[in-house]
Amino acid sequence: MSILDKRPALAAEIDRVAEVAGYLWEKGWAERNGGNITVNITEFIDKDIEAMPAITEPKEIGFYLPGLEGCYFYCKGTNRRMRDLARKPMENGSIIRILPDCTSYVIIADHDIAPTSELPSHLAVHNHLIERKSPYKACVHTHPIELVALTHNNNWLRRDVATKVLWSMIPETKAFAPKGVGIVPYMPPGSKELAEATIRTIDFDYDVVLWEKHGVFAVDTDVMSAFDQIDVLNKSAQIYIAARNMGFIPDGLSEAQMREISRLFNLPK
Ligand SMILES: [Zn+2]
Repeated sequence: MSILDKRPALAAEIDRVAEVAGYLWEKGWAERNGGNITVNITEFIDKDIEAMPAITEPKEIGFYLPGLEGCYFYCKGTNRRMRDLARKPMENGSIIRILPDCTSYVIIADHDIAPTSELPSHLAVHNHLIERKSPYKACVHTHPIELVALTHNNNWLRRDVATKVLWSMIPETKAFAPKGVGIVPYMPPGSKELAEATIRTIDFDYDVVLWEKHGVFAVDTDVMSAFDQIDVLNKSAQIYIAARNMGFIPDGLSEAQMREISRLFNLPK
């Protein structure tokens, strides 16, 4: 028995998580247990799920997150591999219910699989999105090779330097990652400070945040859209690197061409 049985909409949502997990592995962005995905699935919760008993004792989140009252999330399991999640999402992740105290959660399905160690930071971001009445429901953290490589040089860490170069590689990058990339300086993985800095950067109006010398954290309406934003940005980084490997610095689209793209696609920046 699975919570997904006879719930085609919820099952389809979890399928999308599994599909993205497979892409992360295929792209080489998810070595071993690298990366995390959490999705707010509250819209798929019915009365029967609300009545389902917890299969674990309550666990502390480590934050007080009042926006999450009554929310449910699918979370990748800690120490689980994306490549395994791609085939068996309910054996490498679980569904949690936030308890009314908004400081703790229980697992309700399908198995007692502890969520990712990054759960507090993911939930803090979800809480922030809900408080801002954002339509965003998915958080994806992964290690895209070329984007991470950029963060190993100080020049690329200055505000919007990476955004401008990445946008200028092909027109679609600006169209489909229209807020560019925010930068968070190096902080220990799983730390409260990294979570808080990520939220601050999202608040500066970025959907995709580069964590220096570590990876990417992206938010969007659903897991596929969050993945797509990372994918188009990393494609631009690859084009830049390909040009450098051919022995020249790529010109990039001109300022006028970039402004024209913003007009054509009605973009915010
Ligand atoms: Zn990571």
